[in-house]
Amino acid sequence: MKNQLRASVDDCLFFAGEATSPDAFTTARGPYQSGISAEDQVLASLS
Ligand SMILES: Cc1cc2nc3c(=O)[nH]c(=O)nc-3n(C[C@H](O)[C@H](O)[C@H](O)COP(=O)(O)OP(=O)(O)OC[C@H]3O[C@@H](n4cnc5c(N)ncnc54)[C@H](O)[C@@H]3O)c2cc1C
Repeated sequence: MKNQLRASVDDCLFFAGEATSPDAFTTARGPYQSGISAEDQVLASLS
């Protein structure tokens, strides 16, 4: 389920946040890490 929530749409729309974190939901660490992960995906999609 969380894999689906954090999957990008056509490498154009990216998701982050507590709901997408595989192991750190209910804490600020999960959204923070998921934001970094989404940022990496955005950069990879641009290269
Ligand atoms: C009472 C409480 C205490 C907590 N204490 C701690 C703590 O001590 N330490 C800790 O690590 N974690 C704590 N947490 C958990 C932490 O707050 C969350 O894990 C974290 O805030 C989730 O971040 P997020 O960015 O995923 O979502 P959120 O912080 O919920 O941000 C989502 C944002 O999206 C906005 N939004 C929603 N729907 C829409 C829409 N349709 N259009 C536009 N904007 C929209 C909302 O207004 C909100 O600003 C606590 C949570 C609660 C409820």
